[in-house]
Amino acid sequence: MGTMDIPRTALVEPGNADASSQPTWRNRFHGLGEAFFTPLPPEPMPNPHWVATSAACASLLDLPDDWAQRADLNALNVFSGNALWPEMRPLASVYSGHQFGVWAGQLGDGRALLLGELETHAGPMELQLKGAGRTPYSRMGDGRAVLRSSIREFLCSEAMHALNVPTTRALCITGSTLPVRREEAETAAVVTRVAPSFIRFGHFEHFAHHADATHPERLRALADFVIDHHFPASRDSQQPYAALLEQVAQRTAVLMAHWQAVGFCHGVMNTDNMSVLGLTIDYGPFGFLDAFDPGHVCNHSDHQGRYAWARQPNVGFWNLHALGQALAPLIEDSDQALAAIETFRATFADALLDHWRAKLGLQGTEAGDRELADDLLRRMAADACDFTITFRRLAAFATAARNPAAGPDNASVRDLFIDREAFDAWAQRYAARLQRDAGGASGPEADTQRALRMNRVNPKFVLRNHLADVAIRQARAGDFSEVERLHAVLARPFDEQGRDATLRYAGFPPEWAKTIEVSCSS
Ligand code: AMP
Ligand code: MG
Repeated sequence: MGTMDIPRTALVEPGNADASSQPTWRNRFHGLGEAFFTPLPPEPMPNPHWVATSAACASLLDLPDDWAQRADLNALNVFSGNALWPEMRPLASVYSGHQFGVWAGQLGDGRALLLGELETHAGPMELQLKGAGRTPYSRMGDGRAVLRSSIREFLCSEAMHALNVPTTRALCITGSTLPVRREEAETAAVVTRVAPSFIRFGHFEHFAHHADATHPERLRALADFVIDHHFPASRDSQQPYAALLEQVAQRTAVLMAHWQAVGFCHGVMNTDNMSVLGLTIDYGPFGFLDAFDPGHVCNHSDHQGRYAWARQPNVGFWNLHALGQALAPLIEDSDQALAAIETFRATFADALLDHWRAKLGLQGTEAGDRELADDLLRRMAADACDFTITFRRLAAFATAARNPAAGPDNASVRDLFIDREAFDAWAQRYAARLQRDAGGASGPEADTQRALRMNRVNPKFVLRNHLADVAIRQARAGDFSEVERLHAVLARPFDEQGRDATLRYAGFPPEWAKTIEVSCSS
């Protein structure tokens, strides 16, 4: 592959190094041994240049403000796969998985390389290059990622974090003149991803399915690794592996509730795209809901609609069964494994109801809250109301208006519905519920307080496909300023951000947005 002659650069040059500011590097995954990965350096990329950087992610990593420019860090070369810090032990890990419900056998990091971990205030963080060249797991692929999909992954990772949704992070995108063949000629890019771990359900499935007979200890070693580094409390349990499974089930349930509440569709919820830490991972043909349709399928190649928005929680649950199956050899009592997975149901239902309550501005709980939320969603679906805009406008709902149609504030949300009478009937129930929630109080004071709360959970700005598309088109012409502007807006999704940002980024999608098609790996 011609990858062995990579120039190596010191992390901090001898002489000017302040030992206390020197980042500490670790390679704990590497310590698992070569049954778990293939060590290999990245494939260099010609003429690397910066496309985007995330200051928020850099600060998570405790990097200095000028990290991207500092000669001693050599970041542009390191994060495009052209250089390594001396401590880095790059590797491609092996995993398997179920794709679209079918066992797919061995997959693995076909274009991702784990560089190792940086010690940070938030604990060790793994750094991974995505698109750094071919690996033994590339199968028919070229090991590359195109600029277009790299921009989508970068923007969405950081946007999801700002929305308080668990996710892998993105430090930067580097671009190159390297041509990459897709449906049309494109150029290669590398996204540097950051997470405490990139271990997927599929890693466990791999060692359960492929290595179990001859090397049962590998499955256990992987489970011990994940417990020791990420779920140490599970070690205290009588059944550490069942406790691990339960932790993953809980994290997955919480993640699914977040996705539903923010109107996010992942698009490819295969078990190899499921993080054991419950992080959103592998941004591909994802999408945010525009006009609300519970059956919305964001992945153009998902012909069956397996990963439609409304199905995501069930798929998460199904995927947990695949993980449970993989962990079965480590859990003596299969009832315990099932019980661990079953905890998903209640955790998900509770978490989702908490989200709906918060989105409606409710602080207390009443038995009918679920129905109140469901009825709103039903109305929104019937009238194809925009998911993000409807919830955002609901913050301005005035409880005091006797006829919900009368107040000018209520008109802004009411006008989104076609069937106004049906909305009014719901609005009366909502107004009554809000009054009970405020202890009988109503009027501007209580409304103002509620609006503030609602605006902290109902985003004004989400990464709709057409917004990404505009930024991508300009980036492909060499202008990365729109990527930067969009990144900055999405970093503060709950803030009003003034008239210009509102007009450009918070409006209804244009007609042409319906023609955008995104599908699997690019
Ligand atoms: P994804 O659908 O992106 O989750 O990818 C599924 C599998 O295909 C993973 O093993 C990826 O590493 C691999 N893959 C996707 N795109 C490429 C590519 N361009 N080159 C090599 N492997 C790839
Ligand atoms: Mg994947």
